Amino acid sequence: LSETVTAHGLAAQLVKSGALIPTGAQGVFGRGEDFSFATDGLSNAIQRLFGKDAERMRFPPLTPRGDLERIGYFRNFPHLLGTVHCFCGDERAHRELVKAHDAGADWTAAQAASDLVLTPASCYPVYPAMAARGPVPAEGYTVQVQSYCFRREPSADLARMQTFQMHEFVRIGSPEQARAFRDQWMETGRAFFQALRLPVELEAANDPFFGRAAGVMGQGQRTQQLKYELKTPINDDAPPTACMSFNAHLDHFGKALDLRTADGETAHTACVGFGLERIALALFRHHGINPAAWPSDVFELLEG
Ligand code: 5GP
Ligand code: ZN
Repeated sequence: LSETVTAHGLAAQLVKSGALIPTGAQGVFGRGEDFSFATDGLSNAIQRLFGKDAERMRFPPLTPRGDLERIGYFRNFPHLLGTVHCFCGDERAHRELVKAHDAGADWTAAQAASDLVLTPASCYPVYPAMAARGPVPAEGYTVQVQSYCFRREPSADLARMQTFQMHEFVRIGSPEQARAFRDQWMETGRAFFQALRLPVELEAANDPFFGRAAGVMGQGQRTQQLKYELKTPINDDAPPTACMSFNAHLDHFGKALDLRTADGETAHTACVGFGLERIALALFRHHGINPAAWPSDVFELLEG
């Protein structure tokens, strides 16, 4: 049996083994050999097992700001959104910037918002790309996408990273197609965790809306059963952590981006997301710090 890993010791042990490489910023890690084995292995396994009938797309971890504005992300999650700011001054402004920096003052005053934001969920760039194709065909679209995502929530909790990889499957089509896809994936996801020998619970959930509207918005999501999560224990002193989510968006993206089905109706969408780092952390937590000592079927699944 592999060594027992306590949650409190998990971060320290992963850093000591070189699996995680701290950068000095909370929730921002480099990935060493063992962690990369886990996250890359998960990505490959997911693709091999579930990706056959999905169109593969990869986007860089940036989204045009205009697309995110159309989707309205800043209305619900302003606290999580990272915007890309760049220097756009003249030489004089540059001299002032350097002077401010060298005096230990804030040098970022001349940084202005660019036309880019950091992608908060892998599926966001997919909807504008599909809307640009014109009407959605009768069979709908199924897309498989993966990218680094950014959410501004610095934390000492290893399971809450500011930048992490999310592998998603996205369905675009009729209300029935979107809902059936989301529902069927809940069982598929559970079976995947079983194959990884990780204990899971499926729970109704809601997104972390900002401010005073959060309660109402979250409750609305729960009443309509729009979001479910598969959770597995990572931290001892905390409830199980969401490692996968199953989301019904109804016509949110369809309306925002004028995505229409062949018969002219607003398209519905759904997505399911695997959080690769959280699943990797759960593997280290449950099977030990050394992947070579993991149960052989789990190791082989990841090794491909
Ligand atoms: P959602 O869009 O449902 O919030 O996120 C999808 C999945 O991404 C989650 O189920 C989780 O596995 C992963 N995820 C969300 N937030 C974080 C985070 O702060 N850190 C890490 N490592 N993964 C996250
Ligand atoms: Zn998504």
